[in-house]
Amino acid sequence: MAEPLRTARAGALGEADAGREVRLAGWVASIRDHGGVLFVDLREATGVVQVVIDPVADPEVTELGRTLRDEYCIAVSGTVRLRPPGTANPDLPTGAVEVAATAVIVLSPSDPLPFRIDDRADVDENRRLEYRYLDLRRPRMAANLVARSRAMGAMRTTMLAQGFLEVDTPTLVKSTPEGARDVLVPSRLRQGSFYALPQSPQLFKQLLMVGGVERYYQIARCYRDEDFRADRQIEFTQLDIEGSFWDREGVFSALEPVIAAVARELRGVELPLPFPRITWHEAMRRYGSDKPDTRFGMELVDLGPVFTGTGFQAFAAVLAAGGLVAGINAGPRETTRSMLDGLVERARTLGAKGLVWAVVEADGTLRSPVAKHLGTPEQEGLKQALGAAPGDLLLLVGDRAKAARSVLGALRLDLGRPGGHDALDFLWVVDFPVFAVDDDGNLAPEHHPFTAPYRVEEMRNDPQNALSRAYDLVVNGVELGSGSERIHDPRVQREVFSILGISDAEAESRFGWFMRALRFGTPPHAGFAVGLDRLVMVLQDEPNIREVMPFPKTQTGYDPMTDSPSVVDDHQLRELGIDLRPEVRASLAGEPPGS
Ligand code: ASP
Repeated sequence: MAEPLRTARAGALGEADAGREVRLAGWVASIRDHGGVLFVDLREATGVVQVVIDPVADPEVTELGRTLRDEYCIAVSGTVRLRPPGTANPDLPTGAVEVAATAVIVLSPSDPLPFRIDDRADVDENRRLEYRYLDLRRPRMAANLVARSRAMGAMRTTMLAQGFLEVDTPTLVKSTPEGARDVLVPSRLRQGSFYALPQSPQLFKQLLMVGGVERYYQIARCYRDEDFRADRQIEFTQLDIEGSFWDREGVFSALEPVIAAVARELRGVELPLPFPRITWHEAMRRYGSDKPDTRFGMELVDLGPVFTGTGFQAFAAVLAAGGLVAGINAGPRETTRSMLDGLVERARTLGAKGLVWAVVEADGTLRSPVAKHLGTPEQEGLKQALGAAPGDLLLLVGDRAKAARSVLGALRLDLGRPGGHDALDFLWVVDFPVFAVDDDGNLAPEHHPFTAPYRVEEMRNDPQNALSRAYDLVVNGVELGSGSERIHDPRVQREVFSILGISDAEAESRFGWFMRALRFGTPPHAGFAVGLDRLVMVLQDEPNIREVMPFPKTQTGYDPMTDSPSVVDDHQLRELGIDLRPEVRASLAGEPPGS
């Protein structure tokens, strides 16, 4: 049998190994020449160890050593020895030892690198994605991959221990509405027809409940063609669960230990269980957000009582129209003119008609562009309502309630949100509305259309205000996932569609297959989906999900490594019965439109 390439792992060597003959294999993380002696940092998945190539001991090996370059893949034979006194490196786990090389083999040379494989090197993200395989060699990315794997492992272990069955569901499906645009896949055998990639396994997991699987889970890939954001990609991964004869409490008590296990695995912390809960209404009222970051205060305060009968016309008009005047106390801060102007501008871009600022002076008076319109009782009432002290900056908005809250909620985050994710504040947001209402009064499902309303009567009579049995899990202001108790009565399901303006005929053609299933003794059921990428992002304290995804796309959905999406051969299109519109063809050929 051939000799094994390696007999020890670089990152595991320590003082106890001194004197051992080892073979190691890995990459040249760095190479330094100190007066003829070569020091190679050999890196592999377990870590780094220093290899010493000494010309006095072995001129031949040294000659080969001089040909080594960064990121060559090499094998080394040698003896582990303690480093000479005073040269140990306490920052390196293997820093007490080094390996004196007796042989070196180049397994694979490397081209010159597009960037340094070094966490300290600041590299343009497109470049990193183009050479993702090199980026993954960087310690931070390698650690994120390990964390992701351990998160998935902890999820599986905890789900299996609770008796869940792992079931995989198809990825070529009929459209599953989750409120986003579908990613479509043309069918060759049924030209003109399309599969959708699943926005989530939602309907399949519900069918598994009809199918008698009482506890389902899957680490599922989902696809949503939405605008990209720091915590969004066109494809992402969810821990998807569903259970029969369950309600919200069942879901919460099954999921909390899973999240706790992942946090233990990645952070070594014990999360206090159960997670706190807050209703959607309370979250909107206090934080102006349905995913409140509860690590800090700066809560929104309703200032209606303070400004009742005010002489300040702007607020008086808002209140008379049934709107909301609310504010936050942004605390003591240095306020310059340009900072205050910046806040007003920011509020405008957030959709506010205006922002009123007031600074509490040392003598308790208010410095504010509107101070002259506010009587003393109002000023005192304002300070009291916001718990204001000298030096504090107060920010007020008057608008329709929804708009005022969302502007203040965003300013609250701008001004108060802690950087990073040292502390972890998990919470459930419960009792969402059934429907979201846009400015024109149109209804859309706040969660998805398979969510059970609290009371069917209420949904029928007052859809705009009806509450649903939906809930979200939030950590540090990041929405980790959503779930709900489901509709299991086909008549209620039909009613939801009809309130959404989906005719019986359309409902039949899009969801007839699903509604038929509901007629065969469907158990009450409920479920949830946790965004794996977001959870790992927070626990690894990364600023965006791309850092914890092995091969993500850019913010514009492009993969610079494979140059995807890309054009396909004409014959492939012909087989699919697809003809590109002339203007699309022209734009692909780089011709100006219309030529
Ligand atoms: N399918 C939902 C989602 O992906 C989760 C659920 O309701 O279980 O958000």
